[in-house]
Amino acid sequence: MSEYKGVMIFADIIEGKLSAMATELLGCGRKLADNLGEDLAAVLPGSGIANLAGEAIAFGADKVYVVDDPLLQDYQTDSYAAVMAKVVQQVSPRIILLGQNAVGRDLAPRLAFRLGTVAVTDGVALAIDPDSKRLLTTKPVYGGNAQAIFASESNPQIATVRAKVMSPLAQDSSRKGEVVAIAAGLEPAMIRTKVLNKVKQEVAGIKLEDAPVVVSGGRGIGGAEGFKQLTELAKLLKGAVGASRPACDNGWMPDTAQVGLTGRIVTPDLYISIAISGSSQHLAGCSSSKAIVAINKDPEANIFKVARYGVVADWKKALPAFTQKVKELLAE
Ligand SMILES: Cc1cc2nc3c(=O)[nH]c(=O)nc-3n(C[C@H](O)[C@H](O)[C@H](O)COP(=O)(O)OP(=O)(O)OC[C@H]3O[C@@H](n4cnc5c(N)ncnc54)[C@H](O)[C@@H]3O)c2cc1C
Repeated sequence: MSEYKGVMIFADIIEGKLSAMATELLGCGRKLADNLGEDLAAVLPGSGIANLAGEAIAFGADKVYVVDDPLLQDYQTDSYAAVMAKVVQQVSPRIILLGQNAVGRDLAPRLAFRLGTVAVTDGVALAIDPDSKRLLTTKPVYGGNAQAIFASESNPQIATVRAKVMSPLAQDSSRKGEVVAIAAGLEPAMIRTKVLNKVKQEVAGIKLEDAPVVVSGGRGIGGAEGFKQLTELAKLLKGAVGASRPACDNGWMPDTAQVGLTGRIVTPDLYISIAISGSSQHLAGCSSSKAIVAINKDPEANIFKVARYGVVADWKKALPAFTQKVKELLAE
């Protein structure tokens, strides 16, 4: 029998709160742990965060390892990699899940290296192989043109998972779990970088990656003026505005709005693509959306291959009618 047991998630803490990503990982980890008939553990590294352990249990954890140390106040590679490696060596989980975000992308491969294993990044679906009991991680490959399933042969099995491809469980404060405090064992000299300053990105309205609805425009919009109409629709739907690379390169939208391989990866419930051809590089950033609606005047446009609903039309005619209908439905 394997000495590795259970599923462990790394819980990101943002501004003193359990992140949405952490609750999603708990939901996904819970399913995998139940499938294996094993426990789900969460690791909470940070400073002054012990009070969040109960929340992690309410979202599905059986055990919470709290590593509370002032040196963990900010995410720093050296301190977090050392602490995670220490907890993993103590607990020996079979599977470790992290978010496919700035922290997870930095931490997962470093942790894998320290533990002599590998990390599969950018997972969009996770499952347990019924025969081998190994973790199967599905991820987009070839710029989003195909999906491949990866299984690692070494232990522990590490994977990072995209935001919003998993759902958190409903918070249940009656759930019981165990909280274990682990000493970080850090010395300031172990941390080779210093956080000098933190700059909060100002976002008008909802953040692209968090938006349940994204209205994106492409080269066919023709200019910054056209994007005002997309913004109106996005506001009505409480969503955010995205763009293809040419729309950003032309200065019609800021670079932060770019969706795709070299831009943001979004997984909204609804992605409305307007005058975007649907290149593989663009789809790499939006193909995991729950539903794609496309407006394009070219019936052969690639975007229609992935769209659940398609409108073959000039957006200048279709969009005002679409927006008007949304207004009417919202007014009902
Ligand atoms: C390494 C690399 C990385 C890249 N990364 C990204 C990335 O992150 N994101 C990204 O988006 N691209 C990226 N690209 C660029 C990508 O290859 C495409 O060139 C780009 O996605 C095309 O953008 P588009 O669909 O807006 O423009 P086009 O391909 O020019 O398509 C415009 C579409 O608008 C339609 N249209 C025009 N007028 C109208 C109208 N009046 N009404 C309705 N429809 C209309 C046309 O039929 C057409 O389908 C990358 C490329 C490379 C090589």
